[in-house]
Amino acid sequence: MTSKPKIWLSSPHLGESERKYVQDAFDTNWIAPLGPHVNAFEASLAEYTQSTHAAALSSGTAAIHLALILLGVEPGDTVLCQSMTFCGSANPIRYQGARPVFVDSEKDTWNMDPQALEEAIQALLAEGTTPKAVIPVHLYGMPAKMDEILEVAGRYHIPVIEDAAEALGSVYRERKCGSFGTFRILSFNGNKIITTSGGGALLADDEAAIQRARFLATQARDPAPHYQHSEVGYNYRLSNVLAAIGRGQLEVLSERVAQRRRIFERYRAFFKSWEERGYQIAFQEEPAGSFSNRWLTCIRVDPARNHGLTREAIPLALAGDNIEARPPRKPMPMHPAFQPHPLF
Ligand SMILES: *Cc1c(COP(=O)(O)O)cnc(C)c1O
Repeated sequence: MTSKPKIWLSSPHLGESERKYVQDAFDTNWIAPLGPHVNAFEASLAEYTQSTHAAALSSGTAAIHLALILLGVEPGDTVLCQSMTFCGSANPIRYQGARPVFVDSEKDTWNMDPQALEEAIQALLAEGTTPKAVIPVHLYGMPAKMDEILEVAGRYHIPVIEDAAEALGSVYRERKCGSFGTFRILSFNGNKIITTSGGGALLADDEAAIQRARFLATQARDPAPHYQHSEVGYNYRLSNVLAAIGRGQLEVLSERVAQRRRIFERYRAFFKSWEERGYQIAFQEEPAGSFSNRWLTCIRVDPARNHGLTREAIPLALAGDNIEARPPRKPMPMHPAFQPHPLF
């Protein structure tokens, strides 16, 4: 048994600023959903991500769900989604009764391959289907090839929902991740680069769309003196207390990014000495013009080029030193919940 202190994969860090804002929420007895911290958090998020408007929500998954609703995705529709991602990117497609079609990744950033995206669109058009949306992801914080993805999607007039859940603090060609696409989403789940314990945001330049998102997220209650619902809504808003935490977290985002990048560099330096011994460990590489928040450090290990070393052996060895590590995600079509959805 080891006595070394546990090193977690992605543990949250809460500081004085968070405490101050939460204390204020308590002092003013403003605990309910919505409130001044929600408004301030939304304004800070919009400013940071160079978006015009933001709606603070209960999760990133809720944000994707609302984006799909706002884009008019209905039962029987088809939505293109990055294959290498967390289920939160794809589940909301199914909430709408729509069909996810998955797009494979390119080798540089491990994100949606723009060429495979175009092949998927052409194959769908050939069968008489026009996809309703495209959901690219910045996996583990590494920016996807957004210029190419936006160009392909734009050429076929398909709106893009940018899943920046893992990429707050990342930059692509001088623009922050979370500023691309018709809609952009963020997550503040407990394991993300900053957290509200649970939460998310929907971002867009279209003020009316964000206002409608806020309306749908508060059970779609009609703004009328009599109490009435004309539409089905959702309970998707973020509470004032959690928004208070988020405001404090946003203040230390750049420190968190710097720390994650140091962790990445440490692993990179460590595996350099392995390369001299004939191993070939592949990292996610930052293309020119990209800056990753390095939310998680991930490696690709081909046993054939690494003396038979398997991907399972590495987390097991690290566990011996009380360091948490795990195999990366597997492509969505490999999960029983998403079979038999097609992959391009
Ligand atoms: C975390 C995550 C989500 C979902 O966010 P939640 O806030 O956990 O609902 C969606 N997409 C990706 C890529 C994520 O990592």
